[in-house]
Amino acid sequence: MSDLPLIVHLDADAFFVSCELTLQPALRGKKCAVGGRERGIIASASYEARACGVYTPMPTTQALKLCPDLILLPPTAGLYSDISRQLFDLCETLTPYVQRNSIDEGYLDLGPCGFTSIAEIEQRVRALQQRILEQLGVTASFGLASNKLVAAVASKAYKPRGFTLVAPGSEAQFLAPLKVSVIPGIGKITEARLADAGIRLVSDLIAQSVAERQRLLGDSGPALLALARGEDTDSVDPTVAAAQSYSTQETFNHNSSNFSLIERVTKRMIDELMPKIRAEGKQAKTLTIKIRYPGMEDRSSARSLAVGSDLETSFYPLVAQLLKAAWTEPRPLRLVGVRFSGIEQPSRQLEIFGEVANKKRRLAGVLDKLNARGPLPAVHSGHQLGPRPS
Ligand SMILES: [Mg+2]
Repeated sequence: MSDLPLIVHLDADAFFVSCELTLQPALRGKKCAVGGRERGIIASASYEARACGVYTPMPTTQALKLCPDLILLPPTAGLYSDISRQLFDLCETLTPYVQRNSIDEGYLDLGPCGFTSIAEIEQRVRALQQRILEQLGVTASFGLASNKLVAAVASKAYKPRGFTLVAPGSEAQFLAPLKVSVIPGIGKITEARLADAGIRLVSDLIAQSVAERQRLLGDSGPALLALARGEDTDSVDPTVAAAQSYSTQETFNHNSSNFSLIERVTKRMIDELMPKIRAEGKQAKTLTIKIRYPGMEDRSSARSLAVGSDLETSFYPLVAQLLKAAWTEPRPLRLVGVRFSGIEQPSRQLEIFGEVANKKRRLAGVLDKLNARGPLPAVHSGHQLGPRPS
């Protein structure tokens, strides 16, 4: 581990609102939010609005009750992704190692920059923070540490316009007084279980005996303890978004040449994967269909949407053409599989306002809930009916 804080996490402050305020600077300092008015959701709230209790995601109607003088701004198409790109482009003037985690959040690895002192690093990162403000008109909070975990916690420690540097060697000390929920892997359920045992702070967790941690956290105890001490070896990965994928496949009991049956099975696999992608707040751009002839010969074909989607229906039209492109020989199939890649964090807030997509997503969410109740799908799409391959 380096003795310099070479990992930077940056997180733009109230990003969508900040972007809108670059177009309407007269609204700076006012209670503003970006959101849809009718049956809409608050996508981003200014710090002044947050002081009134407005948060993300909150139904707009509720936000307007809490804060009747809230200025509601409709989203400007293309603005956020445009400023996001410029934001990360500016980061790349400091280091080529930039991991774009979401539209307004990312990591920088200053390892290749040849910095030799903390003072030099601090000066260069502060200069970047200033450049972002001057050139783009938005603010971002920065965390600097020896690893990604601590840098990410540090960037959120003070907002907006935060700049928090955790000196190497003091990671454990920095995390100790914070809530256990800052540790990745401790979600709401684990947090509640730990709270029942009187464990609220990172320092409480570290103070437990090995046996008690094993009882509360099971086999993930040692890994979570390491994180609680601020130890993290994950590296900044500029290709992270492209690496992720979701896939499934189905082997037929009997080889099949029935195109419409295989098409249905394929759509059913899309139905199986897409709720997982939605549940993780992601969307996919590319669908790959793989087929296997008897004798283990695989063929595949892929296509990308112009814009990523988290809706099953966006990908249905690709199924027949991809199957035909992959299945060129007049032979039966033994297996079919689907894979989603080009996984990205959607600027979902943008899509929230597309009314048709919004309705479809609401329906999809209801289906996800119904289908989560049991092992058998409670609600079927048309292609899920009919005979299954046997
Ligand atoms: Mg942010």
